[in-house]
Amino acid sequence: MRTDLEYIDSLRRLNTVIYASGEKLDNFADHPLIRPHINAAAMTYKMAHDPEFEDLLTVKSHLTGRKINRFTHIHQGPEDLVKKVKMLRAISQQTGSCYQRCVGFDGINALYSTTYDIDQQYGSDYHRRMKNYVEHLQETDNMVVGAMTDPKGDRGLKPGQQDDPDMYVHVIEKNDEGIVIRGAKTHQTGAVNSHEILIMPTVALTEEDKNYALACAVPIDAPGVLHIFGRQVNDSRKFDQIDQGNACFGVVGGEALTILEDVFVPWERVFMCGEYDFAGTLVERFACYHRQNYGGCKGGVSDVIVGASTAIAKMNGVERASHIKDKIVEMIHLTETVYCCSIACSSQGRSTPSGAYGVDPLLANVGKLNITRFIYEICRISHDIAGGLLATLPSEKDFKHPEIGPYMEKYIKGVSGTPSEERYRILRLLENMTAGTALVESMHGAGSPQAQRVMILRQGNLAHKEKLARKMAGIESESD
Ligand code: SF4
Ligand code: FE
Repeated sequence: MRTDLEYIDSLRRLNTVIYASGEKLDNFADHPLIRPHINAAAMTYKMAHDPEFEDLLTVKSHLTGRKINRFTHIHQGPEDLVKKVKMLRAISQQTGSCYQRCVGFDGINALYSTTYDIDQQYGSDYHRRMKNYVEHLQETDNMVVGAMTDPKGDRGLKPGQQDDPDMYVHVIEKNDEGIVIRGAKTHQTGAVNSHEILIMPTVALTEEDKNYALACAVPIDAPGVLHIFGRQVNDSRKFDQIDQGNACFGVVGGEALTILEDVFVPWERVFMCGEYDFAGTLVERFACYHRQNYGGCKGGVSDVIVGASTAIAKMNGVERASHIKDKIVEMIHLTETVYCCSIACSSQGRSTPSGAYGVDPLLANVGKLNITRFIYEICRISHDIAGGLLATLPSEKDFKHPEIGPYMEKYIKGVSGTPSEERYRILRLLENMTAGTALVESMHGAGSPQAQRVMILRQGNLAHKEKLARKMAGIESESD
């Protein structure tokens, strides 16, 4: 297993092509726009070597029997799924931001069971390749970005009906050695600081869109792959320190638009090619695993927000006010509610024919839908407690300025005995964690709320519920 420093060093050896703010980055591993996201991902390596977290972050491989980082593991039972959620909460408590590595983790788990099912139906060779790939990830401890979301163009049209066929990643050539693919993937969390990309389809497909039924893995720096790094709210502050709020780990995941311009993929790394009838299954399995995460990762982030809200209440001298206590209780209640959903969908997980375990899909989707509301509410309450200074604080440069700095020191003060800089830092941390990009991620990460509603309706078993009511109302007999 890699250490955090080995992970960061390994990125320096890659030839990843990254553009940010109109510039091609030479040394992305040390670039201020990207480094905080690298530090967050590095925590998934660091904590695996910490005896306190070893039980959560490491596990025995079912393929080799060796001790591996859990982010490369295939879940073997409900206990693995529960430990995953606990692990995510523990890491978020350390980073306060997204550490990105879950997307590839969910991708390998979704593909592990789906390749097995494809082989059963078509006699193909995908599952053996997938097992080899998982073993390769376990041995190298590589970080993989799970690449699902296509640009989609006109959302009312299917992939093959688009004016531009590249709106969804597709196969443009097949030969004896492998395939050549073209297109792009959007919102790629952690792409720039991963070692590999795992490409999957983004929607269920029909026969006419066979060429879009594609799953494969390529190195992050393969010829034809380039990344355009996304802007975040306040990202020019990454060139400051205190004003960032969370200078070490940043905010959210550091997303990129990843371009795949005629990228060659050898057959050994192709896990679906044309089996359109399994695209929907793969998308659903991936989505359920990723929705499982949010009560863990956002639970841990919320723990830090609750802590920051408590700290600022104390600094403002209002921590004993009953309405402040009520608001803190409300935040804890919401945090533990989202965590409950993630634990529940994990402990109610079910086996697949491949041996890999999946989560309960209904509970996972309910959990993620809660996130799209409850995180907003947690942040709203934190703003209520923190006060308007959260939005009006002058800059770090003013704070450190020889002439006006003393005014800041004097007037940004709260209760006696607390240095103004501490109040300043807590407010900046809260601003970072509760405004802008972080909120949008809670809404749309792991799929927008409508995607969860569709799954909830499908999984809700309405026929059964209607039958219960009919029986009770005496409309149908017990035998119906
Ligand atoms: Fe993992 Fe959460 Fe980041 Fe998604 S948002 S990659 S679940 S830490
Ligand atoms: Fe996410």
